[in-house]
Amino acid sequence: MQAFDLLVVGGGSGGLATAQRAVEYGARVALFEPNRLGGTCVNVGCVPKKVMWNAAELAAALEHAPHYGFDVTVGRHDWAKLKHGRDAYVARLNGIYERNLDKKGITTIRAAARFTGKNEVVDTEGRTYNAKHIVIATGGQPGMPRLPGAELGGTSDDFFEWPERPRRVVIGGGGYIAVELAGVLRSLGSEVTVFLRGARVLRQFDALLGEKLMDAMRASGIEVLTEFTARAVTQEAGGIAVEAVDGRRVTAFDRLLWAIGRTPRTAELGLAAAGVATHKAGYIGVDKFQNTSTAGIYAIGDVTGQVELTPAAIAAGRRLADRVFGGKAERYLSYDLLPTVVFSHPPIGTVGLSEQAARERYPNEPVRIYQADFVSMFYALTEIKPRTWMKLVTVGADERVVGCHVMGQAADEIIQGFAVALTMGARKRDFDDTLAIHPTSAEELVTMR
Ligand code: NDP
Repeated sequence: MQAFDLLVVGGGSGGLATAQRAVEYGARVALFEPNRLGGTCVNVGCVPKKVMWNAAELAAALEHAPHYGFDVTVGRHDWAKLKHGRDAYVARLNGIYERNLDKKGITTIRAAARFTGKNEVVDTEGRTYNAKHIVIATGGQPGMPRLPGAELGGTSDDFFEWPERPRRVVIGGGGYIAVELAGVLRSLGSEVTVFLRGARVLRQFDALLGEKLMDAMRASGIEVLTEFTARAVTQEAGGIAVEAVDGRRVTAFDRLLWAIGRTPRTAELGLAAAGVATHKAGYIGVDKFQNTSTAGIYAIGDVTGQVELTPAAIAAGRRLADRVFGGKAERYLSYDLLPTVVFSHPPIGTVGLSEQAARERYPNEPVRIYQADFVSMFYALTEIKPRTWMKLVTVGADERVVGCHVMGQAADEIIQGFAVALTMGARKRDFDDTLAIHPTSAEELVTMR
């Protein structure tokens, strides 16, 4: 039996951050990860996705270049070359993570761990470990629907294995992954169809964003089918076909991608042996301090179902280590104001409450909306002129800004600074008092009336 102060089960964003913060306080830490270090974000999520998004942005820029006077002849796009470069970059990151753990004196165990008791785990090689504190950070995996032929499709994990760009691709789902990968594939030249069961994409955000993004997706040539609940998938001579419960059919695709949410990875953890309770969908229940139902066992990140975002997992893990090993008893992550970016085309940056959520949360206070839309100056010379949309949601007589939503060029970079302002409790008058930077898109956020 090897003894540590902290065992971290899972070497993704959350697990790595917790382990590294804990050793800074002098804790003896072991981290279990049977697969590549970095988890979903580094290997099959944020990082390789952003590489693909960058490629897609370049493709768009090449289309605009002639209008700025460039004589551009665009040849074929080499998907395999892009994949090779992307995979090599991810492999470099895997190595950097490994070396960082070594440098910091964290024991990395390249095996999965399973609970055998409250303070004990056994790894897949049969070795046993104990610690007073154990963090579960095993993340999740993409979900698949239960319907005939569903397995003819793949998930975002498979997307990163595709050796070539599909000619025709169909995507089921209307969340982050569906809109992001639809945009990437369309921009790189695929014919793309997206079908979703609801009326609009990105239902979790302010309605403006989903509506305007759907318009932009359609304008870019993506077919978006709403209220399309898949009933069956079949392989036909001409390709994959998807049939909806109302009889609609889409056919002749070389790839089908499911992007219908993720499920927590808890099945192999032996949670019962440690008395750790899960919710119905398998997520591990935690309080605001990330405590599970068993003292000394904590859970962070996607496996808790709180929010599936890398920065939230990192922040929760660091604060947990601050609390458990750093003597900062009140440290915890508030999930109230989460800035997030959807790397769609155009991108979306959003922080705080949607208009609807603000009205529901503050039924007795005035909710005021400021909205702007315009064409970014970047498109002054170009043929295609996509609009940028912005919305501020304020609450109360003093107009505290509780929501800031942007869709348009550079939204991905604009939103971080405004997230600071909202976190500090900025009022609309603080926005008004801030000098605009001209000419930018961001200036519209401080000049709204
Ligand atoms: P999302 O939760 O974003 O979206 C899931 C989508 O699938 C919704 O449109 C939902 O529809 C639909 N759906 C759910 N269940 C079914 C079903 N049984 N049949 C048909 N449709 C269904 O999940 P994603 O898979 O897109 O992404 C997973 C998570 O990864 C996200 O929640 C996000 O937190 C994270 N992520 C973050 C990114 C970023 O930060 N940029 C990028 C990619 C992923 P409905 O709206 O009707 O519920």
